Amino acid sequence: MTTAAARTAVSGTHATGTMRALFKHHAGVGLKFDPARPKPTPGPRDVLIRVKKVGICGTDRHIWEWDAWSAGRIPVGIVTGHEFVGVIEAVGSAVTKYKPGLRVSAEGHITAWADYNSRTGNAHIASDTRIIGIDRDGCFAEYVVVPEENVWPVHPSIPDKVAAVLDPLGNAVHTVMAAGVSAKSVLISGVGIIGLMAVTVAKAAGAGRIFATDVNPERLKLAKKLGAIEAYDVRQGKGYMDDIRKACRGEGVDVLLEMSGAASAFDEGFRCLRNGGTAAILGIPSKPITWNITEHVVFKGATVLGINGRKMFETWYQMEELLLSGKLELDEIITHEFPIEEFEKAHATMISGEGIKVVMSVS
Ligand SMILES: [Zn+2]
Repeated sequence: MTTAAARTAVSGTHATGTMRALFKHHAGVGLKFDPARPKPTPGPRDVLIRVKKVGICGTDRHIWEWDAWSAGRIPVGIVTGHEFVGVIEAVGSAVTKYKPGLRVSAEGHITAWADYNSRTGNAHIASDTRIIGIDRDGCFAEYVVVPEENVWPVHPSIPDKVAAVLDPLGNAVHTVMAAGVSAKSVLISGVGIIGLMAVTVAKAAGAGRIFATDVNPERLKLAKKLGAIEAYDVRQGKGYMDDIRKACRGEGVDVLLEMSGAASAFDEGFRCLRNGGTAAILGIPSKPITWNITEHVVFKGATVLGINGRKMFETWYQMEELLLSGKLELDEIITHEFPIEEFEKAHATMISGEGIKVVMSVS
């Protein structure tokens, strides 16, 4: 936390040893801008990164609104934010791989690399995972500290605006690649930020026909523009399920990518999935849902994959290759950019749905 002494040391200018930051100042709605929060110090195996741009995530919306999940998880006082690009400013004494000046992003899931999953190629589901901007100080600040192992050097051809959102793009890439979409029909249920990213990723990854569902006509329109062959507003009835099945030999799609978290989408999405199909689930229902596992999984012989975070670092390499291929269309997904001082406007633009992915520039 910022001390009173640090605050008074600043008096409007930028004092050494402090930074501008957004932090969760109370157990309630909003964030607060601190012009003089103490600059973090990297440990021996950490890097200190000067943040250039950050992305506002759906998770940041929950933290802003202080819903039940946030209240139970977020320590009051932390700097929030986990999507960013920046430049290494300093490295700890034991860091060997990186030097100051390198443009980087980072995997925000931090593990001690000691548990079963970390040691067997599945560090993204490590039992000791701590996430920046959720469990420890994040990147909505001029500086952020991450362990050397979490650093991802950003390819020079990838612009800052895109590099700031590798974290959610990685969620989309992880989901699409886990399901395997090449030459397959795909239903993406829910085309919010990551669902829209999944449309362009699935198309780039060689999906056959892509179908999309949502309740937002604008997002559905954009899903079509990005590569969906059909986009259905599920508020207009359940007839779309017949349409999708009819289009797919009367059986249903090969792959379901669930990205909405809506209970009805879990039911209807699986009704659109053919027997023996694969469903990859990234959507998070806000509370436990009732869902017919007998019909949707057992008798269907479906393969169901839970998707969490990004594979370290397989997803990051796949994402870089997809970006460098020039096949991903992200310009219409990253809609707004504000200076971090206008964080209230930035969050409001994201929360109202006027903006899709909203980026804030920090330095
Ligand atoms: Zn995120």
